[in-house]
Amino acid sequence: MAEAGAGRDPARQAELAARLAGVRERVAAACAAVGRQPGELTLVAVSKTRPASDVALLRDLGLGDFGENKDQEARAKAAEVPDVRWHVVGRLQSGKARSVVAYADVVHSLDRPRLAHALSDAAERAGRTLEALVQVSLDGDPERGGAVHADVPALADLVAELSGLRLGGVMAVAPLGADPRTAFARLAEIAQELLRQHPDARTVSAGMSGDLEDAVAEGATCLRVGSALFGPRPPLLR
Ligand SMILES: *Cc1c(COP(=O)(O)O)cnc(C)c1O
Repeated sequence: MAEAGAGRDPARQAELAARLAGVRERVAAACAAVGRQPGELTLVAVSKTRPASDVALLRDLGLGDFGENKDQEARAKAAEVPDVRWHVVGRLQSGKARSVVAYADVVHSLDRPRLAHALSDAAERAGRTLEALVQVSLDGDPERGGAVHADVPALADLVAELSGLRLGGVMAVAPLGADPRTAFARLAEIAQELLRQHPDARTVSAGMSGDLEDAVAEGATCLRVGSALFGPRPPLLR
């Protein structure tokens, strides 16, 4: 297979470099405002709808973490650019567990026991351990995924017990129309509760292109950034 990004486009490379620098400046300023260090944060480039060539260009610019929200698209891109860490950030059907285990390092969207069992079984069969974050629903809207707050402790305990999974922490998306800072403050409280039972589950995945400053201010350790890095996605495509 041809290396993705071979025959690279210098104009696209320059655009991605400028966008990456802009995102890094935003992260640095947000950290400075609250006395944090940018090194405390992992930047996951959410490459959904973008070609593998863009992933290869950003990898060459120094990024090592990429996120996707659809299994089929993720699997294809991971096959083209295998030498980075792949994060699944979208809603996941249990039936995709075997596929996901073949390429993903971290699943951010674990939100129900059945999915936890499916991922753990698939990981065990593949002889590996998958990192999983419990996705928290901050508005209780089941359509958008995530476990409601009351269900988080038991789900986290289950993930910690299953031998194919390692509990990494929590993830959330700010509810539509809500103040993201307030939403991420709630997530931070839930993350603190989790840490009392699971002291190694330190990841707090929060913050996207539009609200990464709020996430940094509320203690996020992982930002999932798409359009600020790649440019606006075409309308109607998530
Ligand atoms: C698309 C997506 C992102 C990135 O969104 P942008 O606004 O493009 O930065 C982050 N998290 C999830 C779960 C997503 O689906």
